[in-house]
Amino acid sequence: MNKKPSSKGKINQPRLVRGMKDILPSESNYWEHIRKVTERLAQDHGFSFAATPILEDKNLFVRSIGETTDIVEKEMFSFVDQGGDTLVLRPENTASIVRAYIEHGWVNLPQPVKVWYWGSMFRRERPQAGRYREFHQFGFETLGDGQPVNDAQLIMLAYNFFLDLKLDVSLQINSLGTKESREKYKKVLAEYYKSHKRKLCDDCKKRLLKNPLRLLDCKEEQCAELAIDAPQIIDYLSEEDTHHFTQVLEYLDELELPYSLNPRIMRGLDYYSRTAFEIWPNEEPGARQSALGGGGRYDGLAELLGGRPTPAAGFAVGIERVIALLRERQVYIPGPDTPDIFLAQLGDASRRRALKLFDELRLAGFTVAESFSKDSIKQQLEVANRLNISITLILGQKEIIDGTILFRDMESGTQEVVNYDKVIQELSKRIDKVRNHNDIKITRSENPIPREDENNE
Ligand code: AMP
Repeated sequence: MNKKPSSKGKINQPRLVRGMKDILPSESNYWEHIRKVTERLAQDHGFSFAATPILEDKNLFVRSIGETTDIVEKEMFSFVDQGGDTLVLRPENTASIVRAYIEHGWVNLPQPVKVWYWGSMFRRERPQAGRYREFHQFGFETLGDGQPVNDAQLIMLAYNFFLDLKLDVSLQINSLGTKESREKYKKVLAEYYKSHKRKLCDDCKKRLLKNPLRLLDCKEEQCAELAIDAPQIIDYLSEEDTHHFTQVLEYLDELELPYSLNPRIMRGLDYYSRTAFEIWPNEEPGARQSALGGGGRYDGLAELLGGRPTPAAGFAVGIERVIALLRERQVYIPGPDTPDIFLAQLGDASRRRALKLFDELRLAGFTVAESFSKDSIKQQLEVANRLNISITLILGQKEIIDGTILFRDMESGTQEVVNYDKVIQELSKRIDKVRNHNDIKITRSENPIPREDENNE
């Protein structure tokens, strides 16, 4: 459509592809802050960063997510490339991480292997508020250990992420049992829905034949009502499944982490087993389409992908949804740190020198702001004031000739002539900053995020 000539004979302007979204500089503080919080949590809990390609073999997801899931049936962007391979833009990252675990022999590393990721996912869903065709997730995965303490640690991590962002959320938790208990449950569930078949939406009538678990997820009103009285999987769990689940809940009790037992949490992917959970914004109980994140245990996934049995668990959080909630609740997000110095210049020769000095100051560990394209000192000082910077260095023609530089105190307006060769020495004295000074770490205790009423944006 973009290639059609317009009525004036010009080529139409290329536009964003439907369902895609640009991330604009005006929202960069959200992205940067969320990334910092996530990196900090990963570091605190001993997770290493891993990145897998956006393009994967289609089979990876057909085998892992399941052929009869919405994602695989209709939501994957897939194509045959020039070499005849059927590729897809990844719809999620867990299967890729497990592929990497198998392919790189992570089984030989100390177990469990704990990794986290961050990146774009693609699902060709119907675009609507909070639902895009390219969206971003970060996620944490613990591979190679089936003990319930891992499930609890992941849930704690997910919950702490939202606490760190000052977002009030609720944890919805369920156990899906192992494949065997689920098969038993599926039969009972299918019987229940068959007896109410007339009330089901058209999609659910089809799902009933292929995968009755999907019906519990349906958002259509009449199906959601039927789900309330449906048999619950908890009654079909094996003794081991129940024991695992009880232990996870005991850890959560010990952590005093509030949760709601929710028998309708099924997750949309086939590979889950035992623990399954979702994080919902607290004000919208029941609004399942707005889950901020979710995850659980997937003990059988490695085998589905041709690996050895590898118990594992993880979760993913949708970053766009988190940002939407932060905006909606007007949560204060720290902006970039105020630079240490403003560097102003007057005239061509001083601009040349200033560009070099900028780099030298940066290497010495100072953060420097500038407005090199402006000629007037007045305008440059206005920028420095707007940025709330306390010291401006001024290089004019005279200073270049004299081998000096001016230090201007932005508050009092007083100026001092300093020998150019002493600039770093003088700055260090005044700013008390050294190289790497801005290696600031976010921790909840050291750097609490101010409350909403302290918002000064
Ligand atoms: P899932 O991989 O389906 O469990 O999704 C995990 C999280 O990713 C969800 O809770 C959402 O926050 C987010 N998410 C999933 N699909 C989309 C989408 N189409 N657009 C935006 N966010 C999404």
